[in-house]
Amino acid sequence: MSIRTLRIGLIPGDGIGKEVIPAGRRILEALPASLGLKFEFTPLEAGFETFERTGAALPDATVEVLRSGCDGALFGAVSSPSHPVKGYSSPIVALRKKLDLYANVRPVKSVIPATATASSSSSPIKPVDMVIVRENTEDLYVKEEKTFDGPQGRVAEAVKRISERASHRIAAMAGEIALRRQNIRAAGTPSIHASPLVTITHKSNVLSQTDGLFRTTARAALAAPRFASVAVEEQIVDSMVYKLFRQPEAYDVIVAPNLYGDILSDGAAALVGSLGLVPSANVGEGFAIGEPCHGSAPDIQGQGIANPIATLRSTALMLEFLEEEAAAARIYAAVDANLAEGKLLSPDLGGTAKTDEVVEDILRRL
Ligand code: ATP
Ligand code: MG
Repeated sequence: MSIRTLRIGLIPGDGIGKEVIPAGRRILEALPASLGLKFEFTPLEAGFETFERTGAALPDATVEVLRSGCDGALFGAVSSPSHPVKGYSSPIVALRKKLDLYANVRPVKSVIPATATASSSSSPIKPVDMVIVRENTEDLYVKEEKTFDGPQGRVAEAVKRISERASHRIAAMAGEIALRRQNIRAAGTPSIHASPLVTITHKSNVLSQTDGLFRTTARAALAAPRFASVAVEEQIVDSMVYKLFRQPEAYDVIVAPNLYGDILSDGAAALVGSLGLVPSANVGEGFAIGEPCHGSAPDIQGQGIANPIATLRSTALMLEFLEEEAAAARIYAAVDANLAEGKLLSPDLGGTAKTDEVVEDILRRL
């Protein structure tokens, strides 16, 4: 059997980032040899502490090593200073730009007992198993704003830019993710979905040109023969928010322009109980950075009680985008088994286990 070596950059960042990123490394090292994977790790610097020490939140060396010496990376968290600090800006935002990581992918999944199905659920807690695929480069986030004096006083304006190219590639990525989730389910990961579905989100009833272009382009991208097995529907973003909270089990993969995706992602994360469970990935052509959704959590830093699951799932998500679905499925299943049993949980989930105890329980289940 041939062995594939993956070079992974490790960027712990600040706060609990330093406590959870080692968990990502440990689970990669613990993957069974039968998967044919080897890992080489490179520790890299970024974040507020790095900024205070070196004057750069994202040192050039970090970007260079990621660009030329890594296949993927894990990013912990960076603390955001409570007041604006001159010269400091978020290193992950800068990284997304520098590496053209055009998609932000956020799976949100509740604890699903292996036997549950959407229709059999009578409990008030709804099963959730969805992925939000957010376009990451344009929309209102091009940050082209201006303020001027109009005839009736001050006016501020912002550009909302939607391109066919960006809409097409994000929709195609959503289609690929829907297909891949189907494979991972086939490999035995419990799920509430039987078949793949992509929901296109927009507000084209009001913004007929910008969101209209997103909608028609996404439709066209998902009409490709490759996605024949993927059902496609669309939904106006406001009614989507309503349904997201009433009937979250209805969603498999959601694709959205930048702003709606940003809002929907945080809303969806609230459905599953703790930020410590929710992973994300920043994805570009042939490169992916796994990143837990939580921040540096200064309130629990240094106590060894941070939930490592968001990072473990982010590690699996990174592997998915490096085309290592089987390895990803192993990690998801081990995490799900830990949660479903519910004996070794960190305090954010009502348990008393330390970060390392949760990690060890999950490693045992690999
Ligand atoms: P930052 O400015 O870095 O985002 P924050 O103060 O906003 O820091 P977050 O990391 O966003 O903190 O976390 C919000 C809340 O969720 C905090 O109470 C934190 O303790 C909790 N939390 C976040 N991540 C985890 C985790 N992995 N395990 C347990 N609790 C967590
Ligand atoms: Mg925060």
